[in-house]
Amino acid sequence: MTKFNAQERLSPAVQSIAPSGIRKFFDIAAKMQDVISLGVGEPDFVTPWSIRESCVYGLERGYTSYTANRGTLELRQEISNFFSRRHGVEYNPETEILVTVGVSEAMDLAMRAITSPGDEVLIPEPCYVSYKACTTLAGGIPIAVPTKLENEFRIRPEDLEKYLTPKTRSIIIGYPNNPTGAIMEREDLEAIAKFAEDHDLVVISDEIYGELTYGGRDPICFSSIEGMRDRTIVLNGFSKAYAMTGWRIGYALGVPEIIAAMTKIHQYTMLCAPITAQMAAVEALRHGEKYMKKMVAEYDRRRKLIHEGFSKIGFPAFEPKGAFYIFPDITSSGLSSDEFAEKLLEREHVAVVPGSAFGNCGEGHIRCSYATSIDKISEALNRIEHFKKNL
Ligand code: PLP
Repeated sequence: MTKFNAQERLSPAVQSIAPSGIRKFFDIAAKMQDVISLGVGEPDFVTPWSIRESCVYGLERGYTSYTANRGTLELRQEISNFFSRRHGVEYNPETEILVTVGVSEAMDLAMRAITSPGDEVLIPEPCYVSYKACTTLAGGIPIAVPTKLENEFRIRPEDLEKYLTPKTRSIIIGYPNNPTGAIMEREDLEAIAKFAEDHDLVVISDEIYGELTYGGRDPICFSSIEGMRDRTIVLNGFSKAYAMTGWRIGYALGVPEIIAAMTKIHQYTMLCAPITAQMAAVEALRHGEKYMKKMVAEYDRRRKLIHEGFSKIGFPAFEPKGAFYIFPDITSSGLSSDEFAEKLLEREHVAVVPGSAFGNCGEGHIRCSYATSIDKISEALNRIEHFKKNL
């Protein structure tokens, strides 16, 4: 009998991507006692009750079917209303909005819809782990563009320029940023808009942390920048702002041609997002803002505590202005970010993610999530201080 070699059968694209560097540490931490995790990129709040209740009520009334591929018109209409009042950008709910299974699916669909084999995609790093993988799986070539601590991890056209070739077709931006907590000011976005226009690029803008912006700032949607609406695919969702990670609802906004192309892939691979989760998302947009604001105020309190804490310990971090991560510089420890995360977990039972999981230029940093209680953050800071003293 011929021996079956499964490894050999795997597609070259799948073989070329690495498993997520975030998950590795969860798996080790899950087996240990007394671990404080600053590793998870997930709100520690439960979804507000009125949102949960709308799902329960939907089930009671027997809503258990498929929906339209693009998502319920009711939800698409609410998303359209939200973008109109929040950002002043109009999207037609019939043709320019697609409801997806999280931003994760939306990113995959966006890259598959617009990428031809060999297209180069500019990906500023450090960045969320899926951007590179989705690009590769879509047949594109991810081109890492390092951003720098001295620029507070913002992207500048002069950095992008160095990586531009005739094959460059698109750019993925993700602000407020995971893992750095960086945001882009309006003038930064305008500079990127000009760059995109000059070089005829599609911009994929992952705005999942948009509502988690601190210091009295309002989030800026990339498609609201002049001239950008038609060349931008905006991705957003409910996981972070409304503490709805498990509901798996996201969405994409774009011109009808691109949304139709993404819908084609979605209808064959996912069919639709779950109906009762879509009902909950409608409730989140209609009445969820007050709960969201409370959660954001709490993240803000934690943000200040953790920022001060790391500065005192001597692992300085620039002040995060969005999302719920801080990205301290740990080079003074003499350890690589991977060694640091491993030893910290082993010795002090604190889980963090090595900066290198988010791209080479994340080396020398760790990502800590402050989506956990003040008490846990304080205890984690004590343990990190103890760890530093004993290095
Ligand atoms: N984009 C960013 C920047 C994220 O941090 C995450 C999750 O951590 C996602 C997308 C995926 O979000 P979703 O739960 O909507 O799939």
